[in-house]
Formats: sequence, structure tokens, C-alpha cells
Amino acid sequence: MKSIGLIGGMSWESTVEYYRLINQETKTRLGGLHSARILMESLDFAEIAEMQYAGRWDEMGKILAGSARRLEGAGADLVLICTNTMHKLADQVQAAVSISLLHIVDPVATAMKAAGMKRVGLLGTNFTMSDSFFRDRLAERFGLEAVVPGDADKQVVHRVIYEELCLGQAEERSRAAYRSIMERLVANGAEGIILGCTEIGLLVGPGDASVPLFDTTVLHARAAVDMALQG
Ligand code: GLU
Repeated sequence: MKSIGLIGGMSWESTVEYYRLINQETKTRLGGLHSARILMESLDFAEIAEMQYAGRWDEMGKILAGSARRLEGAGADLVLICTNTMHKLADQVQAAVSISLLHIVDPVATAMKAAGMKRVGLLGTNFTMSDSFFRDRLAERFGLEAVVPGDADKQVVHRVIYEELCLGQAEERSRAAYRSIMERLVANGAEGIILGCTEIGLLVGPGDASVPLFDTTVLHARAAVDMALQG
């Protein structure tokens, strides 16, 4: 079994889920007392969030590259960035190590393509919904067209992530707001919706939309186990 390196803490509310899902999946596949080999570097999200708002992406790239290098040095065979937003820096992180970075878009897009989808809704932080790094990879590598919420809805989705979900709060009124936003994505042609922030699965699930939901945390964690148990 290979060792999975996790760059976590962004936020720790979802990193806990990665730890649980990777171990659960390993146990399901191998049985008995099996659990995953995991190495983790967990960052202080207050510092990262401050740099995000200030647009200090180059600095954050160096921090994440340093984490990836330390994980490789400690024996990780593959590395995951446990947040969608920070995949804006995926190339910089991959360039810093010789082990593979398992990109969060890939397992999600693969699952949606397998389900026959072409036009997909995308929920995440404003960075993930508005910048091109996530949507371009969906389009260029998988031929998937992303539909994102309108500006007012984007602000709601973003605010709930930083002010509630990353603080461990799942509010009923926010769930209702997300439900309405997802229905507007469906009205706009989304055949499935990407929960493109690793905390959104803590708020909404399959019963909350009229189309299938693709949770990046679950699919990323599962793909890590695939890689760890390969060969
Ligand atoms: N975990 C979130 C994501 O998947 C948001 C936190 C962050 O900005 O990294 O994008």
C-alpha cells in the first residue's frame, strides 16, 4: 500500500472528512483492521484565508510547495491538496515534487463523463467559480462545460463557505439558499452539480437537488485510495 500525503487544514472541517473517507474506503476494500497509510501537513487556515483575500498567490504557492516537499521527504508516494480553491496553485505544487499530485478535478470530471454529462453546475468559493483554473481543466481535459451561479448567488455560496462551513456550522437557512441556487443551475442546463468546495458536502447532499451531486471531497478521497492500492 502506498502512503497518501495530505496538505490539509483548509479548512480542518473538511480535512477530517478526508481522513475518515480514506480510511473507510481502505477498510471497505481490504477488510478487517486495514487502514490507510497517511501523512499530513495541516496549515493554519486563518493565515491562508488572509493571503487569499490579499491575492498573495505566489506566496501561498511557495507554502504549499514546501508542504508537498516535506510530505515527499517523509515518504509520501502521492500528494493531495485537500481544497478546490488551492488547486489554483496545482502546477506550482506539482513542479516542486517528483511524486504525483492527484488533481481534484480529475476524479470528479471522470465520474461526470461516465454519467454521460456535458453541462455541469459548479459551486465553490468565488475563486473556484470565477477564476479559470477549475473550469478550464473541466473543458480542456474532459470536454465539460461549467455553469456557475449569477453574481448575487456566487456571493451567497462564497460567504456561507467562509463564515459558516469552515467554522463547522451548517445552518438550515443556508441549506435552503443552496437548494434554490442549485435549482437555478439546473434551470440553466446543469445535468449534474459539482460540490466544488470540500466543505459543501457538510451542508447539502443527494436529497437537496433534482440532479446528481458530485462531491469533490468524496471523489478525491476515493481516487487517492485507488492510487494507493494500485500495483
Ligand atoms: N475548502 C474549500 C475549497 O475546497 C475552501 C477553503 C479554501 O479556500 O481553501 O475550496
